[in-house]
Amino acid sequence: MTTTQARARSSAGTEREARLLAALRDRMRGEVIDRDHPNYHAARQVWNGLIDHHPAVIARCQCTADVVAAVGVANEHRPTVSIRGGGHQVAGSSVVEDGLVIDLSHMKGVRVDPVAGSAWAQSGVTWGELDRETQLFGLVTPGGEVSTTGIAGFTLGGGMGLTMRAYGLACDNLRSIQIVTADGVVRTASRSENPELFWAARGGGRGLGVVTGFEFDLHPLGPDVAVAQVLYPYKDAAAVARAWREVAAAAPDQLAPELALWSIPADPGLPAELHGEKVVLVAGLYAGPPDDARTVLSSLRELGTPLADLSGTAPYLAVQSELDAMFPAGGRYYMKSHFLDVLSDEVIDALLVADADRPTPETLTVVRTLGGAVARAGADESAYAHRSASYNVSIDAGWTDPALDEQAIGWARATWDALRPHATGGVYVNFSGLDDGVDDTRDAVYGTSRQRLEQVRRAYDPDGLFEAAAQRS
Ligand SMILES: Cc1cc2nc3c(=O)[nH]c(=O)nc-3n(C[C@H](O)[C@H](O)[C@H](O)COP(=O)(O)OP(=O)(O)OC[C@H]3O[C@@H](n4cnc5c(N)ncnc54)[C@H](O)[C@@H]3O)c2cc1C
Repeated sequence: MTTTQARARSSAGTEREARLLAALRDRMRGEVIDRDHPNYHAARQVWNGLIDHHPAVIARCQCTADVVAAVGVANEHRPTVSIRGGGHQVAGSSVVEDGLVIDLSHMKGVRVDPVAGSAWAQSGVTWGELDRETQLFGLVTPGGEVSTTGIAGFTLGGGMGLTMRAYGLACDNLRSIQIVTADGVVRTASRSENPELFWAARGGGRGLGVVTGFEFDLHPLGPDVAVAQVLYPYKDAAAVARAWREVAAAAPDQLAPELALWSIPADPGLPAELHGEKVVLVAGLYAGPPDDARTVLSSLRELGTPLADLSGTAPYLAVQSELDAMFPAGGRYYMKSHFLDVLSDEVIDALLVADADRPTPETLTVVRTLGGAVARAGADESAYAHRSASYNVSIDAGWTDPALDEQAIGWARATWDALRPHATGGVYVNFSGLDDGVDDTRDAVYGTSRQRLEQVRRAYDPDGLFEAAAQRS
């Protein structure tokens, strides 16, 4: 392209952006943030500091009417659209380069109905914010393990957490959603209203429209819960992992055991002499009365000789936010995962071989036990496609120095490659990192749901307004 052509194109692009901006400003109550806005750089940042996307405009919605306005403007001006909830997707997919971000992160309403056993939350709410309200009534809906994560992307992609074997994935607990579809219509989707849209939203919710709110089932739990948190010496990792596998396979549904290869952070709550040391962390939360948990949790506490055993009873809210400090906003992150049917000796050995080269102390590998209520939901009940897997292994690279980008991402990809022969081939959309667009791996993400999902997307978005959101993680 010649310099003159480039100038002509960029001036046409600038004019298009100006028209888009003017239309949004004309119709929205919330802030419309363009490249010259004093908050532009703060507003385009997501949780992952590795992401440096420059959208043309950020439409910061305050209400459903703003979302309808933004969708209407998008239909007229056809920018590439991304949708932002909590901004935690590691790939940074919620902020599109040179396009329009429909940003719901400031829509924070929550209403709990303890009589109906349900909670209604708008799409900018985080898990910590929702838990805080539901715990006022001694109730929970299964959320994530870091409280700053948004409920929106999390639930639309499935949603794994410490209580999932008892209550199911986050998406299994949906009663309904409110969604603005590409035609600008505000719809409710539930088992009885727009049931195909509701089916798709649970696990295949990217690219269907803009979800403005979620209605969740609630379950009695808390304020205190029993937890196992045991640090075993790294030198015993192979034996501990094999023993953990037996306990995980026999665990009751109230427990979703986890095993992490990890380095102890400099957290004042953890023994100072252990800071920085590589360890095996074994953890689980008992989703039931703490008094019933002793025997079940003791099995996780006797897998070897612990370096430290932090098990006990703690407020649910504290447990759900305990890891927050280890995943600070602005750090650099890259994530990938596999589903496994079997945690074989070969997998354990491969994990440990890869872990020997772990690039930074902030990096960890986590094995989560699935099954229980996750597996009991019927395969056709929702678009989530990984019901039968027994484990998910997430490879979570974390670092702060940009000079380590290549090494850290390279390590995560190499670890993922090493485990690939043992995995189901399924991909969990919520744990996809930068450049892991789902467009070429849609079969892996959506499996047997893919065709039906494409039909739902075509029915509600025939002109592909949200195509970019469907293609990216
Ligand atoms: C520190 C950390 C901990 C995590 N822990 C867990 C965990 O325990 N379990 C787990 O399952 N996952 C976990 N995740 C992954 C998490 O589920 C995803 O990052 C998820 O996308 C976060 O949702 P969000 O709203 O914050 O994301 P965003 O980045 O805002 O959105 C991600 C994508 O979801 C879609 N989307 C978001 N909002 C809407 C909306 N309102 N309407 C339509 N589409 C929308 C868009 O396509 C968007 O690109 C974790 C991630 C991080 C960073």
